[in-house]
Amino acid sequence: MTTAAERPERRTPTAKHATVVRTERLTPHMVRVVLAVDPAADLAVGAYTDHYVKLVFPPAGTTYPEPLDLAAVRRDLPREQWPRTRTYTVRAWDPAAREMTVDFVVHGDEGLAGPWAARVRPGEGIWFLGPGGGYAPDPAAAWHLLAGDESALPAVAAAVEHLPPGALAKVFVEVAGPQEEQKLDASGEVEVVWVHRGDRPVGAALVEAVTSAGLPDGDVQVFVHGEAHFVRELRRWLRLDRGVPLERLSVSGYWRRGSDEDGWQSSKREWNAEVEREQERAEGSVRTVGVRAAPSRTVPRTVRPRVGRTCSVRPAPLRTAASAPHSPGLTPPSGTPGTCGSTATPRPPRGPAERRRGRGPGPSRGPRSWPNG
Ligand SMILES: Cc1cc2nc3c(=O)[nH]c(=O)nc-3n(C[C@H](O)[C@H](O)[C@H](O)COP(=O)(O)OP(=O)(O)OC[C@H]3O[C@@H](n4cnc5c(N)ncnc54)[C@H](O)[C@@H]3O)c2cc1C
Repeated sequence: MTTAAERPERRTPTAKHATVVRTERLTPHMVRVVLAVDPAADLAVGAYTDHYVKLVFPPAGTTYPEPLDLAAVRRDLPREQWPRTRTYTVRAWDPAAREMTVDFVVHGDEGLAGPWAARVRPGEGIWFLGPGGGYAPDPAAAWHLLAGDESALPAVAAAVEHLPPGALAKVFVEVAGPQEEQKLDASGEVEVVWVHRGDRPVGAALVEAVTSAGLPDGDVQVFVHGEAHFVRELRRWLRLDRGVPLERLSVSGYWRRGSDEDGWQSSKREWNAEVEREQERAEGSVRTVGVRAAPSRTVPRTVRPRVGRTCSVRPAPLRTAASAPHSPGLTPPSGTPGTCGSTATPRPPRGPAERRRGRGPGPSRGPRSWPNG
């Protein structure tokens, strides 16, 4: 058996420290935690709207010497004393105040991060790794599709705030019910559809709403994240029914039902590979039965969906420093001018022929398929 001392040295990222400044209950199941990041920590946030950090949770009863040296922890301590990490979107970063905002889904007593956010008080410290990230709205896209559950709402909200002026976007967010809706501060021509889950499994209503919405054709940039099962279904629909090229997809499971983050992360690579294999196989068989990609049509200036209602939103100034044009701005949870929302009343799914009319260009490989965490 290999001892800790014999284990090969792994490159470990440097941990950064932050202190809780304030917390706020945005909705019954969403808590905002604002953290002051220590001046010594360099927070390279700004290139993406889905920047994320990994929060570090030591096992109960374990404390580490400070400053936290994760390489030393891994080298010197047995595995059961290593910390566990949880991945969270940087909802906003205020470089002047050095305040990082993170919005947590409070999903019950199970887990580490959700319960931590529900109980944490100002003055408590936490270590974190990161940030990483991989998506930002592309001004060249004809239109944008964003869809997710509550776990993806922080990233969706940050993206919506940073859509280029005049951009067309269709945004679908599944939440438990009307009490979980938040105001989104949007620029451009953005339609926000709030999908209420009710008693259905997470993602079922969202998949139905997106696939039955009658979306425009044209070069779409896609951001779909949340529970892994529905993400897989939407990815399949986007690739096979809509023919969206891989390089236009930012699609990944943020969490998976019945698995904690440790379990999900350790199986994620294999899950993703299996999804890709399955869907590319299906893509091949669709091609062999002779389904032809229709030429892309020009995107209409006004999106007229069959789900929810259309909202034209007047452009809002970015709330971030000019030096960091893509840094997510801090959106107040209460209503702001230029917000909109609607509730999905999905129509029945379209038939295969109608669905395939929307197929764009054929498949191609690209880096955006599984960018996160
Ligand atoms: C790049 C990235 C960004 C993310 N950003 C955010 C974010 O900004 N806000 C956010 O809340 N989450 C976000 N997530 C998801 C978050 O990392 C997971 O939900 C994580 O599992 C929560 O950790 P936990 O300790 O609370 O629960 P865990 O210990 O991981 O899980 C305990 C149990 O709770 C279940 N569970 C986990 N998450 C949820 C959920 N959202 N709803 C219902 N049940 C759940 C698990 O399946 C498990 O049964 C992000 C994930 C990634 C990869």
